[in-house]
Amino acid sequence: MTDHIIARCEAKGLRMTDQRRIVAQVIGASADHPDVEELYFRCIKLDPRISIATVYRTVKLFEESGILERLDFADGRARYEDAERDHHDHLIDMNSGAVLEFVDPDIEALQVRIAERLGYRLIGHRLELYAVPAKKG
Ligand SMILES: [Zn+2]
Repeated sequence: MTDHIIARCEAKGLRMTDQRRIVAQVIGASADHPDVEELYFRCIKLDPRISIATVYRTVKLFEESGILERLDFADGRARYEDAERDHHDHLIDMNSGAVLEFVDPDIEALQVRIAERLGYRLIGHRLELYAVPAKKG
């Protein structure tokens, strides 16, 4: 996965410095939705010399190059995930901040039908559910 991200960066013509490679490596190893600060904490475990400013600039560069997808979950923190991960939607637990991933074929089909009804062909969508844990019992 890491090599995959670095190869995609190189294919986009990005100059891959050692520090950019570390950020790419951390992103490739992340299956969740870290913000810049969390990525920074993971990066300094690999290279303590890396600064949060470098991580921030690299993430921005990767986002602009279509390597990373930026997610805004209404809490003012931009989070990121590999833009080439398989399509999925997100449910955000508003109490804990946990982010759950799901894919629902009914929702996928419904969105296609809504677009068609409005005279469009759907080419993508983003769905975020904001939720609190249901009371038990
Ligand atoms: Zn996700």
